[in-house]
Amino acid sequence: MTHYVGMKSTNGQSGFIDFRSDTVTKPSSEMKQAAMDCVLGDDVYGEDPTVNELEEKMATLLEKEAALFLPTGSMSNLVSLLAHCGRGEEILVGDKYHIYRDEANGASVLGGIAMDPIKTDVFGALDIHDIIKAIKPNDSHCSITKLLCLENTVAGCVQNQKDIDIIATTAKKSDLAIHLDGARLFNAAVAQDVSISTLVKNVDTVSICLSKGLGAPAGSVMVGPKKLVNYARRQRKLLGGGMRQIGIIAACCLYGIEHNVKQLKHDHIKTKRLSSELSKISQLGINLDMVQTNMMFIHPDRDEAEALSTFLYERKILIGGQNSPRMVVHLDISEDDIESTISAFNEFYQK
Ligand SMILES: *Cc1c(COP(=O)(O)O)cnc(C)c1O
Repeated sequence: MTHYVGMKSTNGQSGFIDFRSDTVTKPSSEMKQAAMDCVLGDDVYGEDPTVNELEEKMATLLEKEAALFLPTGSMSNLVSLLAHCGRGEEILVGDKYHIYRDEANGASVLGGIAMDPIKTDVFGALDIHDIIKAIKPNDSHCSITKLLCLENTVAGCVQNQKDIDIIATTAKKSDLAIHLDGARLFNAAVAQDVSISTLVKNVDTVSICLSKGLGAPAGSVMVGPKKLVNYARRQRKLLGGGMRQIGIIAACCLYGIEHNVKQLKHDHIKTKRLSSELSKISQLGINLDMVQTNMMFIHPDRDEAEALSTFLYERKILIGGQNSPRMVVHLDISEDDIESTISAFNEFYQK
């Protein structure tokens, strides 16, 4: 088994300009200091003051009742789905979304929950008519449609908030609950220059990753009504995700929220610079309309892709997987790194 099919690895070496993901950031010394200085307790007993502070902070920021700290975004999504749905019930989810494609079908494997994938457009958006059509009738042949899962950002694309609000309120009228996978929701908020709470007004539960653009070494948070969050807390324990003096990580997350949200704007500016320069190389087939936050995709010719990624690797530049490689900008990529990457691409294509 490979960790990631078709992706090169650092093989433990340092000094790479690593565009594979924004998860690769290392905690800064200030972030590590925050972990050193925090007050700890046993979080399974609800006694870790730093975790409690993080959960309260996230609930307040999103203007929801409660929050729950989890080790990963996948577990945060999973406990949310388990809180909403029982066995034989069904979620509607975008066919490109992480919950459907990239979480090893945890909700189905562990929760007996069916997933019906709904077509998404090139920007990752759903059409309300497709959603309504996919809601099953009250008929013994069918699973019971319970939940709609949205995602923002999708492959770096910010979802149109008016559309999200219409979809959410319409789905609610059909008795669906709404979960938002907001792994990179802070990027969506910063890109639109709005508060993050405005993006979650019409959804019930939200999952947010703090180990991506905000630079924490691990950690996600599920946010929603008290009743669902309490149920999710039980599911977290069941899944083996109840951690003890985990304030040491929550302190890094708090540091990320306090210091690194504003800088996401710079990640977005760097991504714009990189994409607009690389879009001059026609062989890369870059769609600039899709570059909206900290992520871009390139589409080198099939027979050239391997040579390109090897050429970059030799210059200590790492890009994402094989088909349509992904490039993600984050805290550990500087303006100089962007310029040397542009030069490396130009050098490859001028040969
Ligand atoms: C990263 C990500 C997750 C969660 O991933 P983990 O690696 O489990 O933290 C969930 N949804 C989306 C859209 C993501 O990008």
